[in-house]
Amino acid sequence: MTEYRGVAVSAGRIVGPVLTMAPPVAEPPAGATLPEGTDAAAETARLEQAAQAVRVALEQRAASAHGGAKAVLEATAQMAADPTLVQSAAGRVASGMSAERAVWEAGDEVAVMLEGLGGYMAERAADVRDVRARIVAELRGEPAPGIPGSDTPFVLAARDLAPADTATLDPQVVLALVTSDGGPQSHTAILARQLGLPAVVAARGVDTLTAGTEVFVDGAAGTVTDEVTEDHRRLAETWADLQRNPLTYEGGGARLSDGTVVPLLANIGGAEDARAAAEAHADGVGLFRTEFLFLDRDEEPSVEEQTAAYTAVLQHFPGKKVVVRTIDAGADKPLPFLTDTDEPNPALGVRAYRTSWEKPEVLAHQLEAVAAAAQATEADVWVMAPMISTLEDTEDVVGRIREAGLRTAGIMVETPSSALTADRLLQVADFASIGTNDLTQYTMAADRQLGALAALNDPWQPAVLALVGATCRGARAAGGDAEEAAGDAVTKPVGVCGEAAGDPALAVVLVGLGVSTLSMTPRSLPAVARVLGSVSRDEARVLAQRAVGARTAVEARETVRAALPVLAELGL
Ligand code: PEP
Ligand code: MG
Repeated sequence: MTEYRGVAVSAGRIVGPVLTMAPPVAEPPAGATLPEGTDAAAETARLEQAAQAVRVALEQRAASAHGGAKAVLEATAQMAADPTLVQSAAGRVASGMSAERAVWEAGDEVAVMLEGLGGYMAERAADVRDVRARIVAELRGEPAPGIPGSDTPFVLAARDLAPADTATLDPQVVLALVTSDGGPQSHTAILARQLGLPAVVAARGVDTLTAGTEVFVDGAAGTVTDEVTEDHRRLAETWADLQRNPLTYEGGGARLSDGTVVPLLANIGGAEDARAAAEAHADGVGLFRTEFLFLDRDEEPSVEEQTAAYTAVLQHFPGKKVVVRTIDAGADKPLPFLTDTDEPNPALGVRAYRTSWEKPEVLAHQLEAVAAAAQATEADVWVMAPMISTLEDTEDVVGRIREAGLRTAGIMVETPSSALTADRLLQVADFASIGTNDLTQYTMAADRQLGALAALNDPWQPAVLALVGATCRGARAAGGDAEEAAGDAVTKPVGVCGEAAGDPALAVVLVGLGVSTLSMTPRSLPAVARVLGSVSRDEARVLAQRAVGARTAVEARETVRAALPVLAELGL
């Protein structure tokens, strides 16, 4: 079995056969000249006709598209007719270059220029390269590159999708999108969200899956698995049912049967996610993964650009908590300007908070931008650093956060070390948020990216749950309640923002262990609220103790699930 890991850009779980995009149009050889005796003027006319034909074809597709997709297609059609591209290519033809090569190089020039501008413009470079490939295909008399035709539903796998491809997707036939390239703001991501299609981008290798292979796509976890199990089918069926009869979450926290309220927050990566989270009535944001702004960059974005990006997120949550996580580079998220790609064990290397030892200015700039964005909005901004393992780390980062003028400074508990010393760390930090994804990989010594270790990378592992319990006990002790460490007086808040929080049965265990807030993908909010509502705090505590005391992860999960009849009622 291979599990391809990428960036989760659109939630949903699907099982289906893969169809891959036609291979990209081959690059015309460098130095290709006009064939002997060919008239440059006639070749230019042929080039113009090809560009026109591409424009017309794109316009026709635009006519049958809807909403944002339509606008994007129309814009791409205009790019096909852009006189700059054609004129620049015509100039090359006049000096003896073949029409195919000329349009290829002209397109590259425009694309490189857009990439140099960065941000949104850089992501439009793919559109220009798409138009150029279409014109070359037209000149060669080849079929236009695009979505493969099929009457039966399929998962579309590709290197990356161009707007002209994604915009005309038929969601009745295409079940999910998986790409090996593309960023969270690529058209693939934008259109997948618009169409409500599960999507995973930047999952290396998915474009080489053999046509017809049945895969399980988890658009919330960002994974594609090429061996489908009964569990996967059940998850996909549950998702399909929820689509037909969606549960809703009204906000205000999950209310346990004894009246205890547990705020449910959202995990987000940018402004678009923030809007969706606010619409889903999330009680705030428990994890804003800021590194999405930094991925695919050769250089650090300016403080101004960062301020604008953070403001765009914070403005969706006036009066509500937004926990901003400082940049979490390294391991699965390498950044050329911050992390060393030659480390032998990147997950155990100079990653996340640790990058600030050598390059404190990157963190300082980020905190400056977060502080400016906090000033500009009414959100209750909390800031935390990932991969904290010692008291020295905690003192250092809390100091830096406060120096930047940010009031509430916290740490992520992602290492066994920080879980076991939480009593001391939380005397310094204002709060902790448990990243169960990393806490699991470091507790079990199992790379979270390796499909072969998936059974170890399970937050139901009793050792992981024991560390969650230890963190909550530490938080109570740090709150001056050492004597009553088993009691209710949690004075330092502990949240969970790893994937575990979005598993409704595990959410019960986490609350039973003493966690005060849960943060998850907004799609998980309704089910988590509903299942938490079926238990009292005392019942959750009993289930938590059973899970921690279980002999195996499987036993922990099965014991807890068997005690929650509401799961079966909801088809979960
Ligand atoms: C985690 O490790 O649980 C977490 C929330 O951080 P990330 O998944 O971004 O590493
Ligand atoms: Mg993490």
